[in-house]
Amino acid sequence: MTVEMTSTDTLVVGAGQAGVAMSEHLGRLGVPHLVVERDRIAESWRTRRWDSLVANGPAWHDRFPGMEFDGLDPGSFVPKEQVASYFEAYAKRIDAPIRTGVEVRRVTRNTGRPGFSVETSDGMIDARRVVVATGPFQRPVIPAIAPRDPALFQIHSAAYRNSAQLPAGGVLVVGAGSSGVQIAEELLRAGRAVYLSVGPHDRPPRRYRGRDFCWWLGVLGEWEKEVAQPGREHVTIAVSGARGGYTVDFRQLAHQGMTLVGVTQSFENGVAAFAPDLADNLARGDENYLTVLDTADAYAARNGLDLPEEPEARVILPDPACVTDPVLELDLAAAGITSIVWATGYAVDFGWLDVDAFGANGKPLHQRGVSVEPGLYFIGLPWLSCRASAFIWGVWRDAQRVAEHIDTQRKYFAHHDAIQHGRETSAA
Ligand SMILES: Cc1cc2nc3c(=O)[nH]c(=O)nc-3n(C[C@H](O)[C@H](O)[C@H](O)COP(=O)(O)OP(=O)(O)OC[C@H]3O[C@@H](n4cnc5c(N)ncnc54)[C@H](O)[C@@H]3O)c2cc1C
Repeated sequence: MTVEMTSTDTLVVGAGQAGVAMSEHLGRLGVPHLVVERDRIAESWRTRRWDSLVANGPAWHDRFPGMEFDGLDPGSFVPKEQVASYFEAYAKRIDAPIRTGVEVRRVTRNTGRPGFSVETSDGMIDARRVVVATGPFQRPVIPAIAPRDPALFQIHSAAYRNSAQLPAGGVLVVGAGSSGVQIAEELLRAGRAVYLSVGPHDRPPRRYRGRDFCWWLGVLGEWEKEVAQPGREHVTIAVSGARGGYTVDFRQLAHQGMTLVGVTQSFENGVAAFAPDLADNLARGDENYLTVLDTADAYAARNGLDLPEEPEARVILPDPACVTDPVLELDLAAAGITSIVWATGYAVDFGWLDVDAFGANGKPLHQRGVSVEPGLYFIGLPWLSCRASAFIWGVWRDAQRVAEHIDTQRKYFAHHDAIQHGRETSAA
């Protein structure tokens, strides 16, 4: 039996935005490459997000530099299907060599020669270099505290589509980052009784003084920050583009009927226990919010920007009863809760990479995406080079740097080959 073998200089695994960006930059530099994708282009945007999701950043911001969203108001928030179509159109426009429906199952380093042997669902690929673009959010994580009660419907935010998916009754949403808070609000609007478990978070203003927070983070240099503030690496950001975009305000949600609780700690005999940290978490979220306003004001003053004042943005609503008299224990059945939505984030899954490129904690060892394993690269991971790395516009720039690194390596080897070849010619 003969096994079909494809050869390429650079193999990109994954055709989400990271893989498409890689292909654009590699193509520009003339690096022969191939992108393989197990599903469809931008599959995560199509099938791993809830139905009503729109991009968190406005259309002018959450895109690649080379193409705008056709026919959309630049200030609008693009529905997830259109984000997926955008990347599909982008891949077509740059003529990206993408093979869909091909899963990479194993990557091993060649011995005695550079490069990797790549086992896929469609045969072997011999690649001099491999770029891992399989996403920042691969494996939905539900913490071990999840109750083992078959009467409760439990779902991760990655599998949540809409309120009709859940059985009748109340819902506990665990996690109040962008996913958790948006899903909780959608459920509340659908008439559900909603309990939202709120941990430490940042909640930047959606807009301030006439500019979107994406603009403020840009001019204030926040997107470019290379390391998260110590101790705040796991703080989620509660921001939403839904219904034209609004500032997430947990107190307002509570005044609308949502019950806020602190961090979910355990479930025992049908009773959920919450940490007494809700007021603290909200206070720290407010602090973050007000700091953005202060920094924005200082920036506007220093640079003489003529932006309308917005003192009303500093008004913090009074604490609702669930904050002043927090729920620390909740009998789920007695409260009518039939579902739990776990908006508790994701882990990465690199089990298919049989290479020596990971630290003791299982995280890839790399510098700005250039792995410690020569010829292996990562792209699209959170904080790969900076805060923007896992976001649409940030990954495009990181991909440019990684492609340049690959191009430079190719030049070193071209030089080496030329010397070798000269030696062989003179010896002949
Ligand atoms: C709910 C949610 C909302 C978000 N909203 C925004 C937003 O508004 N703006 C923004 O900038 N960012 C947003 N992000 C962050 C980020 O932009 C997305 O997660 C985006 O999908 C990441 O793109 P990616 O190409 O790195 O990964 P993905 O889009 O996940 O693409 C990775 C691809 O690799 C493929 N793949 C994986 N393993 C293999 C394998 N072994 N072989 C072959 N193919 C494989 C997958 O099928 C997938 O298509 C959001 C994230 C989430 C979870």
